[in-house]
Amino acid sequence: MKTTLYTHEAGLKHHIPLEHAEQPDRLRAVLDALNGPQFDALIRKAAPRAVREDLLRVHTSDYVDLILSTEVKGDETLALDWDTYLSAGSAEAALRGAGAAVQALDDVMAGDTQAAFCATRPPGHHARASAAMGFCIFSNVAIAAKRALEVHGLAKVAVVDFDVHHGNGTQEALWDVPGALFISLHQQDHYPGTGFAAQTGGSDNVLNLPMPAGTSAQKWMALFDQKVVSRLNQFAPELILVSAGFDAHRDDPLGGLQLEAEHFAELAVCLGKLSQTHSNSRLVSVLEGGYDLPALGRSAAQFVEGLLEL
Ligand SMILES: [Zn+2]
Repeated sequence: MKTTLYTHEAGLKHHIPLEHAEQPDRLRAVLDALNGPQFDALIRKAAPRAVREDLLRVHTSDYVDLILSTEVKGDETLALDWDTYLSAGSAEAALRGAGAAVQALDDVMAGDTQAAFCATRPPGHHARASAAMGFCIFSNVAIAAKRALEVHGLAKVAVVDFDVHHGNGTQEALWDVPGALFISLHQQDHYPGTGFAAQTGGSDNVLNLPMPAGTSAQKWMALFDQKVVSRLNQFAPELILVSAGFDAHRDDPLGGLQLEAEHFAELAVCLGKLSQTHSNSRLVSVLEGGYDLPALGRSAAQFVEGLLEL
């Protein structure tokens, strides 16, 4: 698939305390891994800033003001919740993160690219309408999903979230949006404590697939093949958005699942084929978690290689 990488150096300037897992080196690890001859065909674009109108599709005006107008001096980091911080460069990084998802959406809708991978930080899928949460500031994927429905006039948009943590923020944003199907595979009884199978959305538009810590890669992939693929075939989305967190990798310090880097290539191929079948080859993926730097780099590289190979 014709694939475009969206990123911005502002993502390296969102600083947080040193003991924290969500460090700028995560983005460096991903970008370093996306070099080499196998990525010659990868188109590279700078992520623009999201505009306020797009942020307001998911977030409250007061919350957007808080993020954009809080002044942070020098090397200070202000705690937004117990594990999410604001530094002098954070608002710019968060705007470029949401902007990457929006631009990727607009480009796949225009036919300028087919697949997109947004390598940005902070991540987004825990951010709530009026609160930062779980390292996340703006709900990047939900913002793109709502723009796809409201601006591009799509009737059916699917979000697949394979981060090891449940995407509670995305789920909340899309809960009462019948045109959006949210699917999350995640470790059960784990942060953020949501994502039960019984949570099925306002109009049966949410599918949560929790699995216990230690679940094998074979079982994870079988669950994906049986439940996710069939649900996507049934729904036939006009666009597939992916919350691409790589912390279900077996080496990840914040997760207890067992995937290897190669499985993310399989996922990319599978999701890419589904987008070719149903969605006019429109697939937008956005980086979420992944905290073991070598595993994160290898996994993201495998995922993008999978897209390019299709
Ligand atoms: Zn995660």
